[in-house]
Amino acid sequence: MEKISLAIVGYGGMGSYHQSTLIPTDLFQLAGIFDIDHQKIKQAQEAGLETYGSFEALLADQKVSVVLIATPNDQHKDLAIAALQAGKHVICEKPVTLNTAELDAILAVAEATECHFIVHQNRRWDPDFLRVRQVYKEKTIGDLFQIESRVHGANGIPGDWRHVKAQGGGMLLDWGVHLLDQLLFMIDSPIKKVAADLSYVLGEEVDDGFITYLTFANGITALVEVGTTNYVKLPRWYIKGLAGGGVIDDWDLSGSLVVAKDDKNQAPTPIQAGVGLTKTMAPPSEEAVAIEAWPQTQAEFPSFYQNVYDVLVNGASPIVKNHEVRRVMGLMETIFEAAARGEVLDFE
Ligand code: NAD
Repeated sequence: MEKISLAIVGYGGMGSYHQSTLIPTDLFQLAGIFDIDHQKIKQAQEAGLETYGSFEALLADQKVSVVLIATPNDQHKDLAIAALQAGKHVICEKPVTLNTAELDAILAVAEATECHFIVHQNRRWDPDFLRVRQVYKEKTIGDLFQIESRVHGANGIPGDWRHVKAQGGGMLLDWGVHLLDQLLFMIDSPIKKVAADLSYVLGEEVDDGFITYLTFANGITALVEVGTTNYVKLPRWYIKGLAGGGVIDDWDLSGSLVVAKDDKNQAPTPIQAGVGLTKTMAPPSEEAVAIEAWPQTQAEFPSFYQNVYDVLVNGASPIVKNHEVRRVMGLMETIFEAAARGEVLDFE
């Protein structure tokens, strides 16, 4: 099996993670690295990697078939277009671009050059997401009607360029794109309404977090939240179905599913709540529910890089499709607009 030769542009956090951890060496061969920062080039050389003196030199390397772009977000468009025009296939980090107009410019060149352009929406493979997706698809707790997907940190906005609007900083573009991509990949229904609130509590020019509330045509509502000022975290996932509910607390996958039994006639016992008594807010009786572990789940589709290889060599269909990436980008534009106008907006 012939390996595909790949070069990386941007040897920062994610570029080096691709090189050291993600790229399967039985499928891809690293041709070299380019970074505008000489220190990064030096680091790559010290790690024994080949480097290029310029982006043009990388593009001129005839043995390179694929260019992986892992630079700040505002650089993606021009680098991707130049690589496609040089006849290279492109893997691009998320968020693909700063807006749909930039993405359309890339896609037009990909079509004209007949080169593949594939975005690294890697969190479609996250184990927590795959569990939620399985419970959604198999109706383990009945039809889901509410989904809450959150990531909470307490360290503010990381790094340097993520603080700068012109470079595509802010948490909606950074983490929001992952959580929204997961939801839209899972739920096969148009989104009807979008409400949103961006957070600027750290006084930066970009959002340090956001909450958006989406209403799907099939009746599901979803709350998506990213926070960087959360000293106390809420669960990663909280889902409600017509026959139960579930929580995944964190990346360690702790949490449980509560599945309602058919016999709903078991009345709950009233409880003392504060200075009052309640039956409404009492836990369900033990006979009415079963507490279960989340199902262990494997993706029914190949890994990101295996899929890219199959697309390039065997004509497979990409798992991360460009029309899906474009839909998520359009949704993020609508979220920015809904927050700025303070209005609930139509989407699809
Ligand atoms: P980073 O700042 O750590 O690294 C970016 C690197 O790109 C730096 O070394 C910088 O010198 C270099 N660079 C900047 N402009 C360049 C240019 N024109 N040509 C060549 N090199 C250039 O940033 P990062 O955290 O690695 O993020 C890079 C990209 O990866 C971003 O798009 C980010 O959103 C994405 N990312 C994705 C994930 C994921 O899970 N998929 C995680 C982290 C970051």
